[in-house]
Parts: sequence; C-alpha cells; structure tokens
Amino acid sequence: MARALNVIKPSDNLKQDFPALARLVNGKPVIYLDSAASAQKPQCVIDTMTNVMSEHYANVHRGVYTFSSETSIAFEDARKKVAQFIKAKTDREIVFTRNATEAVNLVAHCFGQSLKAGDEIILTELEHHANIVPWYFLKEQKGVVLKIVPIKPDRSLDMAAFEKLLGPKTKLVAVTQMSNVLGTVVDVADIVKKAHAVGAKVLVDGSQSIVHFDVDVQAIGCDFFVFTGHKLYGPSGIGVLYGRYDALNALPPYQGGGEMIELVTFDKITYKEPPIRFEAGTPAIVEVIGLGAAIDYLNGLDRAACHAQEKKILQEAEKRLAAIPGVTIYSTAPERASIISFAVDKIHPHDVATVLDQLGIAVRTGHHCAQPLMKVLGVTGTVRASFALYNTMEDAEKLIEGVQKVKKLFS
Ligand SMILES: *Cc1c(COP(=O)(O)O)cnc(C)c1O
Repeated sequence: MARALNVIKPSDNLKQDFPALARLVNGKPVIYLDSAASAQKPQCVIDTMTNVMSEHYANVHRGVYTFSSETSIAFEDARKKVAQFIKAKTDREIVFTRNATEAVNLVAHCFGQSLKAGDEIILTELEHHANIVPWYFLKEQKGVVLKIVPIKPDRSLDMAAFEKLLGPKTKLVAVTQMSNVLGTVVDVADIVKKAHAVGAKVLVDGSQSIVHFDVDVQAIGCDFFVFTGHKLYGPSGIGVLYGRYDALNALPPYQGGGEMIELVTFDKITYKEPPIRFEAGTPAIVEVIGLGAAIDYLNGLDRAACHAQEKKILQEAEKRLAAIPGVTIYSTAPERASIISFAVDKIHPHDVATVLDQLGIAVRTGHHCAQPLMKVLGVTGTVRASFALYNTMEDAEKLIEGVQKVKKLFS
C-alpha cells in the first residue's frame, strides 16, 4: 500500500482502491453516488483497522505493556494527522467525538452553559439537523434566541441578511461550510471576521467541505470546526471537534468519567486540559486509527487534481441533467461543489431512486436531514447525487442514462 506522495491522479482510477466499488448490484457494477451520506472506504483503512485488532489491540493511555503503548502511539499519531490535515496549530486542539453530531452537541452543551435568556445564536437555512437541534435545545432550556440567515433565490447564503442579524446579543454563529443538500459553499472566513467583530464565536460545520476542498482552520479563523470520519473515507463512529485552544480551554467538561480527570475524591474533582478533558471513557480506538489511515490515503493523492476532476464531473452531470425536459435542479448557487439535488417532474423522488437502484445506481432521496431547507425550497424531498474522488465521468454518464430511463418508464 505504500506509495510516494502526490503521485496518484484521478485518471489512475481510484475505484480500484475501494473494494466495495467492485461489487455488482442487480447484476450491474455499482455506481455509488451517495458519498455525501457516507463514503466508501479504501482498502488501506480496512487493513489498518484489521491490523490494530489483529496485531496490538489494547486500551490506550493506560498500560505500560507493549500492546498498549503501540496502540496509544498509533492513536495519538492519528490526532497529529488530523491536526495537520486541517492545519490546526497543535494536536491539543483536536477532540475525538463519535461524529460531527456529537461535536456540535458538545459545543452547544458546554458553551451553552455560559448563555442566558435573550442571548442570540445565528444559524442558516442551509444547516443539517445536526447543526440545528443542539442549538434548539438551548432555546428550550435557556431561552436563547435563534436567528436564521436566509438563502437567496440563487441558493447562496444571503450575507447582507447575515450582517443585519449580527449584533451585540449575538454569542455564537453556527454555519455550514458546504450544504449537504445543495452543495452551496459558504465564505466562512468572511462570516468569522464579521462575527468576531461583535465578539461572537463561530462554529463551522465542515462535514461536507472537508471532503471536497482543503480546509485551513487557522485561515478560516473559526473558534470551532466539526467533521465526521465516515464521510472522509474513514470509519463511522468517529468525529472531530477542532477548537482553537483558548476557545476549547474556556469550555467546562462535557461528559464525566475516566480519562478526563486529574484527581478524584468524593469532595473535589479536577479535570485535565483539552483535548482529554472532553474525551471521557474509552475512545473509539480502532476508528480513530482508521481515520488516521484515511488521512494518510488522502495525503498520498494529488488532491488538487481530484478536486478538479470532481468539479468537471459535476459540471458535466449538471449540464446533461438540465437538458432533460422536466428535470429541475435545485443546487444552483454560484459557489457549489460535488452535489446535485434535483427532481423529475411528476415522478416521486423515491420512485426515481428505486428505478436507478435497479440499474445499480445509488442516489439518496428525502429531506437529507435538512427539513427547514426543504421548506424553503418548497418541496418535501429531492433526489441527490453526490460525487466523491472515486467517481468517474462514466458514472455521471450512467446517471444521465438512468434518469432518461426513469422518464421513459413513467411517461
Ligand atoms: C452528515 C452531516 C452531518 C452529520 O454527520 P454525522 O456523522 O451524522 O454526525 C452534519 N452536517 C453536515 C453538513 C453533514 O453533511
């Protein structure tokens, strides 16, 4: 599996690195277009995880014996890899969570403790439920006021409206860097600049963006950044909360338990510094190391070339889909990436997806965990095709042929 860095081009057909993509579905080679929900895993991730369990598995940070020290080193190496991948200043800014959802909940819970009734949190219409519900809890529990930035008719974020919502009561802005429904890319660095000017913190949901372009948390300047391992070609069960050290260190503990403490008596307990303060109990050892392997895999690719290829495939697929009569495309923001949300006139999204599945094509339908955005779009769901680094122009071709077949079947 060892490879020189930056030598792999998308034209080298990355599908061969992902064993699941060799499968036939309904007698056809699978065309996997649901990576925005979860990505396939390269062989090196699978091998690394197997290897931990078959070679040196033990709990981390505790044992003095060889298995434990080998596993602990691999575990902490993964934290360093994550820190470098998102250009954090130090690996002490990387907290491992179960997923992006837990990372947002952690910040909402811990940061939320300092909030009081009337304090304001700004969200956007683009958010995934994971970046809505934890803040809604604060509205229920504390009387915090949620303000929502609308999208414009072209489905980009309305920055002028955002600026109007910002004010002295704004304590936090929670915003996605890329919509999982529309692919809309948000200028989060600009949001951070404006939010910081009124003293508000910013949490960026990078669950989609980190998959499709390079992330530099220091350049963004955000206080918190979250993402989830399984969309970044890593395993499920592992997510990341980045917190700039001062922002992270200002938070009280999240869950209580082993690991996160310094000294425990029944009268007084003291807590460790970040990131361990936020990692109570035995972590997802194998998954953390698996995420590290996914990052190794990505570092071994010419990612700029991969991203450019994804863009070409997206543009071609959009152009061809738009040319099919009766197809409406919702993902139209000027800045967008790797996702097409669409509908076929008079055919339920579910039926579209079911026919496509017969052809071996996996797309997602429904509200995509973004019911408020569906309401804004005036639909109950869309069909979503999402592209990842292993997709090819031929996959886009197959999608177009598939949609044409759907139309014929229902006409
Ligand atoms: C998938 C996704 C999440 C949630 O990820 P989990 O792994 O389910 O926690 C949050 N935000 C966005 C934009 C997503 O696409």
